[in-house]
Amino acid sequence: MTFSALADELAEWNARGLKRERRLLESPQSAHVTVDGRRYVAFCSNDYLGLANDPRLIAAAQAGLARYGVGAGASHLVLGHAEPHARLERALADLTGLPRALLFSTGFMANIGAITALAGRSDAIFADRLNHASLNDACLLSRARFIRYPHRDVRALEERLATTRARRRLIVTDGVFSMDGDIAPLAALVALAERYDAWLYVDDAHGFGVIGDEGRGVLSDARISSNRLIYMATLGKAAGVFGAFVAGEAALIELLMHKAHTYVYTTAAPPLLAAATLKSLEVMQSDRWRRERLYELIRMLQAGPLPARWRLMPSHTAIQPLLIGDNGEAVSVAARLAERGLLVPAIRPPTVPHGSARLRISLSAAHAPRDVAMLIDALNDIASQ
Ligand code: PMP
Repeated sequence: MTFSALADELAEWNARGLKRERRLLESPQSAHVTVDGRRYVAFCSNDYLGLANDPRLIAAAQAGLARYGVGAGASHLVLGHAEPHARLERALADLTGLPRALLFSTGFMANIGAITALAGRSDAIFADRLNHASLNDACLLSRARFIRYPHRDVRALEERLATTRARRRLIVTDGVFSMDGDIAPLAALVALAERYDAWLYVDDAHGFGVIGDEGRGVLSDARISSNRLIYMATLGKAAGVFGAFVAGEAALIELLMHKAHTYVYTTAAPPLLAAATLKSLEVMQSDRWRRERLYELIRMLQAGPLPARWRLMPSHTAIQPLLIGDNGEAVSVAARLAERGLLVPAIRPPTVPHGSARLRISLSAAHAPRDVAMLIDALNDIASQ
């Protein structure tokens, strides 16, 4: 392949309205940011509780830094597993009510490592069609049969489970879907896992910290418990730091510790991050007002009024996508919002299905009601022009 072939491929992305550019963030992540020299109200981050720049987390990270230095210097199984990592794993198991938890450096790595460790050639994975890219990549990499079912369609999933002869069966789903904000039908999925001798792997990247009592996540909120559950969540979204974990039965976690390549063959995350995350879990539990504020803002946005030509997708979570449809129009609305000092990402294919480009409005406890009011006004203004 020549470089001109690469340039042609890029030109094609461009022509389809899919060109990507990065803005430069010049302040800490928050609801109010400085980007490319200008102040904005941002509805872009996954910092749903507004903890990414919390002074208590910063102090905990600084104490961790002073005590453990900057880098872990080795993988967990060699000599990178520091005392804050161990405490954090125990705290995560306690919080989620599951027997054991294992830390990974990122959510992407957790999904790749756990799923490829659990499923192989003679197995089958049943996956919601709108699952996150990291889950899809993990399923492909596992070499198991990768069987996708229509979004949240329990009946279609059951038909597929009923006809499989695979040795091991794994149902894989986002807890809160990252580009839609809706929630998987978890009670029905667990029931199917039990009926068809399968495991249920739930990626709760967007539910952990936000949903359920004290932010314990979608399983706790749905009051689901089963030894067939494998729970994964990230620590770089509502928890405000970085990293991820997988939690479940002790034998499962022990196996992942031996077998998950993205756990075994990588440097442990800096212990200072685990120290900051331990503080974050405390704050997540004690600062109930953060979830209350977030839900108040969600209700406010939904009450609008929003322009009739675009509709908010059905979501009760911090992710409130406004469906626009056309790629060009989504980009143009986002650009006009930016001119008014409001940052909202336009999400286009291949991240979402063709014809469903959207503004992914994400709300945070760090927003004020005034910020949401500004967004509603600006959208009405743009729609009427
Ligand atoms: N799963 C889901 C559902 C996600 O939305 C994301 C991040 N966008 C990830 C996994 C990956 O997590 P991380 O950013 O920690 O790699």
